[in-house]
Amino acid sequence: MLYLPLLYYRDVLFHKKLRSIAGSLSLNRARIVYDDPIADDVGRVMALVGHRHSRQIMAFHGAAAASQHAILAAAASVPYYQPVIPQQDVQPDRPIGYGAFGVVWAVTDPRDGKRVALKKMPNVFQNLISCKRVYRELKMLCHFKHDNITSYVVTELMQSDLHKIIVSPQPLTSDHVKVFLYQILRGVKYLHSARVLHRDIKPGNLLVNSNCCLKICDFGLARIEEPDEQKNLTQEVVTQYYRAPEILMGAKHYGYGIDIWSVGCIFAELLSRRILFQAQSPIKQLELITDLLGTPSHEDMKSACEPARKHILRKGHKPPTMAALYTLSSQATHEAVHLLCRMLVFDPTKRISATDALAHPYLDEGRLRYHSCMCKCCHTTPAGRQYTLDFEPVCSQPFSYAFEGELTSLTKIRDKLYKFVMEQQHKPNRVPLCINPNSAAFKSFASSQCAQPSELPPSPHLWE
Ligand SMILES: [Zn+2]
Repeated sequence: MLYLPLLYYRDVLFHKKLRSIAGSLSLNRARIVYDDPIADDVGRVMALVGHRHSRQIMAFHGAAAASQHAILAAAASVPYYQPVIPQQDVQPDRPIGYGAFGVVWAVTDPRDGKRVALKKMPNVFQNLISCKRVYRELKMLCHFKHDNITSYVVTELMQSDLHKIIVSPQPLTSDHVKVFLYQILRGVKYLHSARVLHRDIKPGNLLVNSNCCLKICDFGLARIEEPDEQKNLTQEVVTQYYRAPEILMGAKHYGYGIDIWSVGCIFAELLSRRILFQAQSPIKQLELITDLLGTPSHEDMKSACEPARKHILRKGHKPPTMAALYTLSSQATHEAVHLLCRMLVFDPTKRISATDALAHPYLDEGRLRYHSCMCKCCHTTPAGRQYTLDFEPVCSQPFSYAFEGELTSLTKIRDKLYKFVMEQQHKPNRVPLCINPNSAAFKSFASSQCAQPSELPPSPHLWE
């Protein structure tokens, strides 16, 4: 069977043509995006932006319009770009993962024949909340520029993720653990410096390629840090096994510490290759945590809600059993356990920060390995390795949510999204990308769904 890659790009002339057609149909500019010619029969649409050097694509759904046929007819006359890749080297496009808000596909970029990951986000315009979430995620992805964080909706294809590696039979030496943990913390430090909480750090969201480079992905749940403690934050965050005790105890407000807790759980899991706190329900999750950390003091539970506090105190006093961390693995050295104990602290205000964790001696070897042969910030010259001045850079500008105040209706967000896509596209050296509706995989791509509610982690316990 002749295989056609899913992704195509069209020349700029096509986009000009599309806009003029839309104009003659008296559509406003914003409608071009969701009345794009690649709409399928249920009105789902992919709107895409390309970049010659750092690819960037967004995909979303919208309502079908009567004008769609006219645009489709016009689109048919525009030739697609054909990739120059020997047929035997072309791999079929296929879905590789999915979550609550999107499906990720492995596809071939026609511009260079490289395999990339493309995320499809369905039902974007279903309601205001999903609209805002997608807009926020795209804005964030475009804001980040860091080697340990994915920064585009279409990104370099990573072969695996940390979850697949942990459950695989492949050996994990202490050097592996160190270089993975170093990169996770390096990425988290950058995110936190941008005032962003990831809120769903788990092994499946840590992409890894065959040379052990690691990138944090999936910003579907990420949001800005809220300094005002009076403001409530949603508790629908973080896969249960990696959920911090303050969230399990119904804290209305939380901060950067929730990500560090998740990293601590992952660190322990890397050492033992078993999930550290694997409980059936949020209440049991909390019990597993107190089994290890002991009963928290009143002060350590200050952010918890009253019923949760009472629950803990009813259980009677438990002594801490942190020494059990030495039995995680033969790699659980004093240094490793010391750092782990600084991350797995009940009170989030006493938990170590990403910056301080990176200064821990346990990570010195990981840093050296990463910057000697893995990073993109240092370079080997005939005179030797030229190291960067800042091994763990911060984000130059905090991410701002100022734009969110204006997102008051679906129509407004559609317009803003459209403008945002267009701005990205009109940056220099960007080549627009499109989905090819004639490709072999298009039908299954268009119908691929996100995770069902039954496949998602259990909701937090309702204390009141
Ligand atoms: Zn470097």
